[in-house]
Amino acid sequence: MTATPPLIAPATRPAGLPLLVLGRGSDPASERGVDCPGSLPAASDPDLVARATAAKAALGERVFVLGHHYQRDEVIQFADVTGDSFKLARDAAGRPEAEYIVFCGVHFMAESADILTAAHQKVVLPDLAAGCSMADMARLAQVEDAWDALTDAGLADAVVPVTYMNSSADIKAFCGRHGGAVCTSSNAEVALEWAFSQHGADTKVLFLPDQHLGRNTAVRQLGLSLDDCVVWNPLRPHGGLTPEQLQAARIILWKGHCSVHGRFTPECVDDVRARVPDVRVVVHPECTYDVVTKADLVGSTEFIIKTIDAAPAGSSWAVGTELNLVQRLATRHPDKNIVFLDKTVCYCSTMNRIDLPHLVWALESLVAGHEVNVIEVDSDTEAWAKVALQRMLELPAGPARG
Ligand code: SF4
Repeated sequence: MTATPPLIAPATRPAGLPLLVLGRGSDPASERGVDCPGSLPAASDPDLVARATAAKAALGERVFVLGHHYQRDEVIQFADVTGDSFKLARDAAGRPEAEYIVFCGVHFMAESADILTAAHQKVVLPDLAAGCSMADMARLAQVEDAWDALTDAGLADAVVPVTYMNSSADIKAFCGRHGGAVCTSSNAEVALEWAFSQHGADTKVLFLPDQHLGRNTAVRQLGLSLDDCVVWNPLRPHGGLTPEQLQAARIILWKGHCSVHGRFTPECVDDVRARVPDVRVVVHPECTYDVVTKADLVGSTEFIIKTIDAAPAGSSWAVGTELNLVQRLATRHPDKNIVFLDKTVCYCSTMNRIDLPHLVWALESLVAGHEVNVIEVDSDTEAWAKVALQRMLELPAGPARG
């Protein structure tokens, strides 16, 4: 009898990443999962807003709801605070009286909040299927394989690992263990400057998991050349790199990307300039190097919001970031012409998993005394991830980028 072939050839299956069919089973130890025990309200329930309002009022000070900028309006209206992932985690840490932190965001953000909040605070992710495809692109087993290869090549002692905030807790912990740090899109430049100063002129950086943020920062802000960058592909033997290529590289970029920001192309920029007179183009550094090179301004989500808020009435902006945020900016500034950089819809599908039915379900479960979808990072991972986060907090303030 002929054996059924595997869905993914063993040679290309990411290490430690079992297949998980969406809607069946869960993998709560990873960025993926589909658990939602109990009864989820119907999306058509006309009382959802009233139910969320009542449940939140019943919980009072016991709950603090965080809303990432990329979340839907229907849940943002219940957020006590909005922001990017790091700001939200710190806001949660500043509210120790809140027993429950309900994080309207994705899995790695809830992990970061758990790491930074006190032991008595529990972080709830309303839908465990709200992962992040970029974070999923760097698995601990894969990163350890890469580190072994760098060790075998005699390079690991001079390599400093730096991970973007958008990574799982165990990748942050890996960086903590190996003398590295976490960075955000706001401080990637100072984080890389710090990393390159760790072992003198021989220092190399392993940048995880977003190759675009790493390349944009290294080349556009630190003055490295594109030839100084190599890309480690975890699905290929030895990352697809020769020992000579590793030896010559200044920065080793992990082959990861954001599926949302990766949609923007240089042609989108050309097209919007042709369509909209005097338009200014502002994009997030998770976009490709070719896109950020064509844009007028590049910066983090907070930078984009501040730029649009401060822009004069009547100005035109094409914004290259997640669509929920761009729509909110357009609604907030009817006196400015704000358009989405792509011509097609570009929501983050996992961010959008957190909808009003899941928020109602999470809040009502807490009111009923059932703790659901609690995200807990084990103590060893938490301790080392904190080391990497602390190194980031000790970085000097960097320049505001544009
Ligand atoms: S926008 Fe990109 S980086 Fe952010 S959660 Fe979605 S896939 Fe991940």
